[in-house]
Order: sequence, then C-alpha cells, then structure tokens
Amino acid sequence: MKEENYNPYVTAQTQFDNVANQIGLDQSARELLRQPSREYHFTIPVKMDDGKTKVFNGYRIHHNDARGPAKGGIRFDPNETIDTIRALSLWMTWKCAVVDIPLGGGKGGIVCDPRTMSLGEQERLCRGYIRQIARSIGPLQDVPAPDVMTNGQHMLWMLDEYETIMGGHFPGAITGKPVGMGGSLGRKEATGYGVVYTLREALKTLNIDISKTTASIQGFGNVAEYAARLYSELGGTVIALASWDNTDKKSYMFRKAGGLDIEKMAEIKDSYGTIDKEKAKALGCEVLDGDEWIAQDVDILLPCARENQITPATFAKISDTVKVLCEGANGPTTPDCDPLIKAKNIYLVPDFLCNAGGVTCSYFEQVQCNMNYFWPKEEVLEKLDFKMTTAFSAVHNLAKEKKLYMRDAAYVIAINRVAEAAKLRGWY
Ligand code: GLU
Repeated sequence: MKEENYNPYVTAQTQFDNVANQIGLDQSARELLRQPSREYHFTIPVKMDDGKTKVFNGYRIHHNDARGPAKGGIRFDPNETIDTIRALSLWMTWKCAVVDIPLGGGKGGIVCDPRTMSLGEQERLCRGYIRQIARSIGPLQDVPAPDVMTNGQHMLWMLDEYETIMGGHFPGAITGKPVGMGGSLGRKEATGYGVVYTLREALKTLNIDISKTTASIQGFGNVAEYAARLYSELGGTVIALASWDNTDKKSYMFRKAGGLDIEKMAEIKDSYGTIDKEKAKALGCEVLDGDEWIAQDVDILLPCARENQITPATFAKISDTVKVLCEGANGPTTPDCDPLIKAKNIYLVPDFLCNAGGVTCSYFEQVQCNMNYFWPKEEVLEKLDFKMTTAFSAVHNLAKEKKLYMRDAAYVIAINRVAEAAKLRGWY
C-alpha cells in the first residue's frame, strides 16, 4: 500500500486491539479506550490581510482523561484529517501513561498552511481557534501545546486569548510557551533529547558504544534537530538527514560520509526545516532524493518527521547494518511492518515512548507555572533524563521478561495504567 492509503486511526486502533487481545482486556474497557471520549469540530472565520474572510476548519479531541486533564499538541497542516488527530489523541494517552505523568491524551489541529500566511493572519487564526474551544480546555480539562508547524508564539497568542476570555492568569492552561512567558527551559530541546536518552539506553542494553555508531535521520524540524545535536554530542555520527523542501514540494537527503556538522546544518535551515541546498553543497553535502534516508548503511534509523513513512515498500530498502529504530515521530511505522522489524531483529524504541520527552517537559512546565518558580535548564534536563530512562527500563524489562515486542510491551504498561485509572473511577 502507498503511504497515503494508510489511515493513522486504523493503525492506532489495530495496535490497541492487538494488545487488548494479548492482555485479555475487559470488553467495556476496550470500547472506552479504542476511541476518543469527546470531539469538537468547528469553523474559524479569519479576516485575511486582503480584507476577505477565510473560514478554516479546527478540531480538538479528548481521547481519555482518567489519569488527568487531556494533554497534547495543536497541529497546523494543510493535509490535516480528523482521523489523524483521533490517532494522535490515542497516542498522547499512551505517551503520558508510559512515562507515568498525571495527564490524559488529546490532540488538536487546524487545516491551514502557516507557511503561506502572514504573522497577523496566524495570530487571528490562533485567537479564533481559542474563541471556539475556550470553555472545553484549560488547566483542569485539557492542556494544548505545540506540534507540527506550531510554536511558542502561537501558544502565547492562544494563552492570551484564553486568559482574556476567562478573566485571569492561567499559565498552566497551555504549555510550550516562550521562556520568560511561563515556558520551561529545556522545552525546545526536550523531545529530541528524549529520543536520544532512549536511544542511549537501547544501545547500552545491546552493548554498543554510541561513539562508534552512525545514524540516518528523517526530518530536520525541532525534534530531529535536537536529537541530532545530542546524538552528535554523545559521539555518534549523523551520516544523512532528509528534510522537506517547501519550495520544491519534495524532500531531499543531505549526506556526508564523514558525518554532518549539525550546528552548521541548523544554521542553513528555515523555521520549518527546509535546508538551503546550495549552502549544503558548500558544506560538502551530497544532495539526493529524500526517500533515500531509509536505505543508508547505518546502525541507527531515526524517523523524526511524519506518520506512515516506514511501510513494507520502504522497509524493503532498510540495510542489514541497521540495529536500532527509534521512532521520534508519531506513528511513522505502519502495523504491517511490525512483523518485519521483529524478523530482521531490529531493536525498536516505539514512538509514544521514544518521543515522550516533549510532553514530559510540558508537564514540568505546568508544575513550574503552578509553583510560579522556574528551574534551571540543567535541573529540567536531569529530571527529563530520569523520567525517560525509568520509562525505557520498565518497557525494556517487561519486553525481556515476557518475551514481548517493544511496541507491545509499551502498550501493555500504558493500557494497564489507563484501564486501571478508569476502573478505579468507576467508569466500567
Ligand atoms: N506535540 C508533542 C507530542 O506529540 C507534545 C505534546 C505536549 O507537550 O502536550 O508529544
């Protein structure tokens, strides 16, 4: 099947159903947990700079809030679908549960392309989104954060609108805010660093020295950049990275056999991750087709871009040298690849464990906002490392003990925690 034929919601439900069968989950719990508990669909009229009004479609979905307020990002994406947001809301619930933070799962999105909108238009869109959903979000109900193509500035406009409507200061209502405006130090780095904390632990269990490894990365947005930075700092060599080029509407892979200088690569990208090809060539990179990121002779693959990137067709290109697959993106691998990953004996760090660093730091941001006292960056990152390493060890140990696939082991832990919370509340 082609990438666009995979529906992420079907993927998320298939993964859930598989594990629900394995653990013999109660029938009512299955019905409760395999779908979102609440969905909001709405229109957002925005006055554009040319004086015309454009109407955007917005969504916010709460999958489950048994363990705490729903939590999850808001995406801006011209190709956004309701099923993608549903899937992502499920994955947020499992993500918060696997790292054991007291939050549930939610997700939101607006069908739009911020790359073609002025800052004023983006601000009016953010405020319009909040006007439609203000009464169903907030620190006690549902806490949004940045996601694909949204950033701290968007979050601050949203928070300002929320506080204006609610009449007070509620810094814990939205996370991923700029530092100095209720944001946490380390939030920018958190997701990418979290990916590498789990990678580091995976390599330890395999007795592989990180400084002797090579990696190929898909994506060069926030997650990929900070994963690449920390991996390089720990001595790893990034041979290749692929990023979307918004002018050419295709992706390119940038490869350098001796290793890419991530700092320099970051200097030649725009805020959406598009890398300047000419400047990359001047840095000694080969510029190749973006799909080739998966076919490199490396030890580690880091998909840190989008859903449905690893399908049986693309999996067939994976080199025999690959030992570890760390899913920095949400849902990068389709379920029909899971048997292939097992058969090839690749060590998998599944998405909702691997990329949980972002939401873990969002939780720290809320805690700091509630105390009105902010920790130094080292303290945030130390706490983040501890949370990620603890979660990784629990999943790894369960997988080893019960001879489970890593994705299934992560699901067993997460589903059991959420099902238990729902049961204790008397929901089934
Ligand atoms: N959007 C990020 C994720 O998918 C972070 C969510 C959050 O901080 O709430 O995990």
